[in-house]
This record gives sequence, structure tokens and C-alpha cells, in this order.
Amino acid sequence: MIDPVLPTYNRAPLSFVKGEGCWLIEADGRRFLDLGAGIAVCSLGHAHPALVQALTDQAAALWHTSNLYHIPQQEALADKLVAETFADTVFFTNSGTEACELAVKMARRYWYDRGAEERVEIITFDGSFHGRSAAAIAAAGSEKMTRGFGPLLPGFVHLKFGDHEALRAAVSDRTAAILIEPVQGEGGIRPVPDQCLKGLRDLCDQTGTLLIFDEVQCGMGRTGKLFAHEWAGISPDIMMVAKGIGGGFPLGAVLATEAAAEAMVVGTHGSTYGGNPLGCAVGLAVMNLIADPAFLDEVNRKAGLLRQKLEGLVAAHPDIFESVRGAGLMLGLKCRIAPADLVRAGYAEEVLTVPAADNVVRLLPPLTISDAEITEAVARLDRAAARMTAVAA
Ligand SMILES: *Cc1c(COP(=O)(O)O)cnc(C)c1O
Repeated sequence: MIDPVLPTYNRAPLSFVKGEGCWLIEADGRRFLDLGAGIAVCSLGHAHPALVQALTDQAAALWHTSNLYHIPQQEALADKLVAETFADTVFFTNSGTEACELAVKMARRYWYDRGAEERVEIITFDGSFHGRSAAAIAAAGSEKMTRGFGPLLPGFVHLKFGDHEALRAAVSDRTAAILIEPVQGEGGIRPVPDQCLKGLRDLCDQTGTLLIFDEVQCGMGRTGKLFAHEWAGISPDIMMVAKGIGGGFPLGAVLATEAAAEAMVVGTHGSTYGGNPLGCAVGLAVMNLIADPAFLDEVNRKAGLLRQKLEGLVAAHPDIFESVRGAGLMLGLKCRIAPADLVRAGYAEEVLTVPAADNVVRLLPPLTISDAEITEAVARLDRAAARMTAVAA
């Protein structure tokens, strides 16, 4: 008999009743050190006092009105995002997948408006992940995500990750946009080198192609800049944001330049819940904390500490680990064993990590993790790795 919860997830035998900072607590009091943060969502940890305050204050005042009216919290968050980024305008969604939907629509409408109706193709890369909607699975294109769901939304051109020749050859007078994660998350914490991001920007400038960054996972301070592409000193035309921006409240956004967004006039897009007062009140509290340069300096300092300790961990377990990779507090342990096995061994040591493709275990701790928690996290990972070695022996 099918489970009342549609069984599309392979869930760990854990459930939590409370969260405090980097810790998740089970009903029996067992405390787990959370290096997954709900997959890069709880960017400020669990139950951050400023977010609890923002949410409960807003909950007591007003939950929902709809986009038929002005929403001051939405306007304040849009102002903040515009002030802190390349963007001139923002549309709010409830998730990353919805941000993908709008990014695709925006890119196509841009060319339609310019009389280039044939420019509909969007170039994407293998190992990418853009969500689970019909457009988002067609964008990523992997067999695993698309099998049985055809006919898929046409117009996506899938290229090998890092194949510069293929990319130059693929851009044509049918190309609307290039869509890429500056650091692949699900794909196994694969950063696109700064030089390549610059090259992508140049290619797009030369061909008029729109550049769309999916910063749903790597954005919002995760890499030590507010957005990962800032390290390369370039900016996209359109950017998808979600996960960390809500700190645990469902919130996403599409940020865009005025030129890229111009064609999205009244009636071209909408969302019942997108930009609701609750989400935006929380999002503004998150932005006010994370966009602070002093906060980002701390993320970078702690990222250095974690990375250094992980290098030590890899060196201590050459049978289990191959390398550390990633940026900031978005790190991956490339494994010689099945990553799911290490994640499971972590449960026994009360440390939570997240598997990814390419044999990687992801570490995406709350950006607020302390030095002592970093030390504790690596000690627990060390014991989890030792369990694996014991199993293999
Ligand atoms: C999680 C994720 C998405 C999808 O976001 P949802 O909120 O799950 O719809 C899109 N792109 C990237 C890079 C992601 O990590």
C-alpha cells in the first residue's frame, strides 16, 4: 500500500522536533550537528532570534493580501536586493523551481519583444540542477530527472560541463540565453572557475546572448560573497535565487537588469503567494544580516578554517576521501566510497551531511557556524570515516 506521503524521497530514519543554531534535536533529546542546513536553506541556522522575531511580528499583523495590492515588505526586500546586486528589478517566487520558470520565460520574451522570435534556445550544462518543474527538468536534461515525463519542454541545448569549444560552437542566432550555476550544488560542488565565468560574460556580450545564473544554492553568502559570481567580477543579466534567502521560509526570486526584464510587462507573469508579507519580512531580516560585509568576512574566515581542517581529514583517510572542493561554506568531500554510506555513518556520529552527484558529500553548514562547532563537526566526520574504514576492513 502506498504511503500517505507520496514516496518520492528516500528518507533517513531521523526526525527532528527542534532546531537551535547549527543543531537539530530529536524527540528523545539526541542532538545532531547540522552541516546540511536543509540543503543550504537555513543560512542563519535554526530559530535565529532575528528571523523568529520578523516572522512572528509579521504573523501577528498580516499574512497575505495578494499581488493585487502593494506589499511594503516585498518592496523593501526588492529595494535591498537591487541596492546590493547588479539587478534593477526583482520578482518574488516561493521556490527555486519557480524562479527557473520565470528566468526561462523572461529570456524568451526578451527576444520575442525584439522581433527575434527564433531566439528561443537556452544552453545548459550536464550535472546542473534547476528544480523539478517541467521547464526545470528539461533545462537540466538528465535521464534521471526526465525519464517518463515527456514530451519535455523543447528548446534546451545540453552541453558538457567545462567544454569551451562546444560552448562557442553551440551559441547561434537561435540562442536566447546561457543558464549556469556558478557553483554546481546537486552536481557535486563543482565551481565554475572565475576565468570561465568571465569568458561566459564575454561570449554573451559578443553574441547578445542573455546570461542567467542559478544562484539558488551558491548564493546568499554561501561562498563568502553575497552572490558567488561576484568573485569573478562579472554579473549576469538574470539570476535565480531561493534556498538561503528565506532562511527556512519558502522564498525565491528572479533578479534582472532593466534591459533583460523590460519585456515582462503587466500580465506576463504572476504568483498568488510570491512576495507575500511573511516571506518578505523574513527575507529582509536575512538580507540585513547576510549582506553586512562584516558577516561575509566572518563567513570567509570560517570557511578557511573548515577547509583547512577538511584537508587534514582527507589526508587522514586516504582510503575514504579523494579531495576537498568548493568555495566558502559550500564544500564537497570527493569520496572513494559511496557518499550515501558516509552520510549514513555520519548519522551514527550525530552529524548531518548531504550526498551529491559525482561521488561527493556536501557540507553546507549554517553560515553562523562557530569555530568550536567547526572543530566538533570535523571530529564527528573523522569518526564517521573511521567507521567506514572499519566496515571495509
Ligand atoms: C534547489 C535548487 C533549485 C530548485 O529549488 P526548489 O526551491 O527546490 O524548487 C534550483 N537550482 C538550484 C541550483 C538548486 O540547488
